[in-house]
Amino acid sequence: MEIKGKTVIVTGAARGIGRGIAAAFAREGANIVLADLGTMADKSAGDWNYALAAEADLANAERDIKAHGGETLAIEVDVSDRASCHNLVAKAVEAFGGVDVIVNNAGIIQTGPLVGFAERDWDRIFAVNVKGIFLLSQAALPHLMQNGGVIINIASVAGKRGFAHMSAYCASKFAAIGLTQSMAAELAEHAIRVNAICPGNVDTAMWFDHLSKSERQRHLHSTNTVDETFKSVIDATVPLGREQRPEDMADAALYLARAENVTGISLTVAGGFMMN
Ligand code: NAD
Repeated sequence: MEIKGKTVIVTGAARGIGRGIAAAFAREGANIVLADLGTMADKSAGDWNYALAAEADLANAERDIKAHGGETLAIEVDVSDRASCHNLVAKAVEAFGGVDVIVNNAGIIQTGPLVGFAERDWDRIFAVNVKGIFLLSQAALPHLMQNGGVIINIASVAGKRGFAHMSAYCASKFAAIGLTQSMAAELAEHAIRVNAICPGNVDTAMWFDHLSKSERQRHLHSTNTVDETFKSVIDATVPLGREQRPEDMADAALYLARAENVTGISLTVAGGFMMN
């Protein structure tokens, strides 16, 4: 797919990996729809164990990405809500006349031992990380079916291997990969390609505001700073010895958008931390 002039919806785009992917597509001349919780982050949808992106984050992302040129529009969405996903697609179509690419990136995590894991947290993780992909993709399909299109789901290395204290998150990411493969098989006849990206350890709020705390508790790095904890995990587990960055995921997303003969894969971008 030629990216210039195409309309790309990126969810969870106010910060982190989503913001990096949106910026990369903007630099290639795409029309960008930045979708995130916005004002909903301050209400019930944002009530989570670490702060999700706020209204100001979405506004900042919109301002910064506009500077890359092309058209950029921020729209609030809760991907776990069907009506909200339909509203997002309708506004994107109204602004740009169609939808060509969706990047289902919005995601949340909660770690902890299975024995005390809250049912509410399990449901919320699945509502965002799995149902969110289903709802937004379904809402956009009538438009993607018109000219063919691309769906990119952000899964995780945690979708390829289980990790202790990460049952809900791992299960949701395994589900995201299964959903990716099923969608790829089903939608190929409409010239819609569906792939996933499996990031390793990325220096975002998800890592620094949540994973570093659980790592410190579990591995008794309690005197380490958040940065030291992150670095010690990278040093111990990543053959290339470097963390992943949103820009690495953006490279993978651009590749998958362009790769006309690739569908159904889950592309690991993890510095060798995982090799499948
Ligand atoms: P992040 O917390 O910085 O970004 C996630 C974004 O999703 C936030 O802006 C948040 O506001 C948004 N979001 C959450 N719930 C939402 C909802 N219901 N509707 C709309 N938006 C919502 O984290 P990140 O690291 O940038 O994560 C992006 C994706 O990458 C996630 O799917 C995550 O699971 C995945 N991932 C991250 C890592 C990592 O190491 N950071 C590793 C593997 C996979």
